[in-house]
Amino acid sequence: MSYTPSLPDPSAPPVRINLLSDTQTRPTPAMLEAMARAEVGDEQIGDDPTTNALNERVAALLGKEAAVFLPSGTMCNVTATLATCRPGDEIIAHRTAHILSREGGTHAALGGFQITPLDGDGGMFSLAAFRAALHPRNRYEPPQTMVSVEQTANIGGGTIWPQATLDAIAADGKAAGLATHMDGARLMNAVVATGIAAKDMTAGWDSVWIDFSKGLGAPVGASLAGSRAFIDEVWRWKQRLGGSMRQSGVIAAACNYALDYHVERLAEDHANARALAAGLAQLAGVEVQEPQTNLVFFRPDGAGVPGAELVARLRARGVLLAMMDDRIRACTHLDVSRAMIDETLELVREILRAA
Ligand SMILES: *Cc1c(COP(=O)(O)O)cnc(C)c1O
Repeated sequence: MSYTPSLPDPSAPPVRINLLSDTQTRPTPAMLEAMARAEVGDEQIGDDPTTNALNERVAALLGKEAAVFLPSGTMCNVTATLATCRPGDEIIAHRTAHILSREGGTHAALGGFQITPLDGDGGMFSLAAFRAALHPRNRYEPPQTMVSVEQTANIGGGTIWPQATLDAIAADGKAAGLATHMDGARLMNAVVATGIAAKDMTAGWDSVWIDFSKGLGAPVGASLAGSRAFIDEVWRWKQRLGGSMRQSGVIAAACNYALDYHVERLAEDHANARALAAGLAQLAGVEVQEPQTNLVFFRPDGAGVPGAELVARLRARGVLLAMMDDRIRACTHLDVSRAMIDETLELVREILRAA
């Protein structure tokens, strides 16, 4: 798995259409206004009313006892494993999981955990694969203490786990003594796409987080939820890692605003992703994975233009996309309109025609 995010290229023309990631959104004027009006206190001692309101709200949304506000999704994953596992423990996850490939080896470096990668289509593993990976406690093998899933599965294509599989893996995991962890960086995309309530979708999962800086349009922030005892332990790690904050209400206000105004509209991003995929699928030689949410993975190689070349040519025209291994990823979000999708399709058509 290789994905090296490229740094901005100052010699390239300005980006007009940003399909790189749903992290690219800028706070809207109304969101900035909500931030400016935020009531604040000292978050570290539990005295920031806006952050406290966000924590209560996220706990209720996800059906958990408590939640804690953290600077990033990565820090949610890191504090969750540190709060749950001990050195030498084994975590089961998909081969393409963020915790394996995108977090700088933190889970090994800080926790001493090993992550066992499972295979499976779309960034998801089957119940059978999960069962096959489980072993009874014995003195030779590492203690298995956590199973982690991504909802949606990012590198899998923004795919949504079937609810029955999620429920069954959680039940079997718990029966085997494992904690169940859900990386919900794009959980709300799955909720909007399926109509399943977040707390029902995550019912079997002990720890769950959502990212406000992904499709929800906030500049910073993620919230991790679970039992009160778990959140107490997460707080210890938040403090140890230097991530506790002060007047965090200023950013928590953006997250509250995002929950009020930017959840339902994720359906527009999904419609734009479908429109992009449908347009690309009409081009001879372009292979497209049918999107379930806001991520579109495709390969133009069959049209005579390698992915990296198409990405470079689009960048020269002001359209920014990502290469992930040998596929191109386009991500729709708050700052991507249908007109931008149409223009991107027009440019891809033009480039492929000229090839
Ligand atoms: C982005 C992402 C993360 C990390 O979130 P950050 O807020 O960027 O730290 C974790 N897991 C998945 C699946 C992601 O897409």
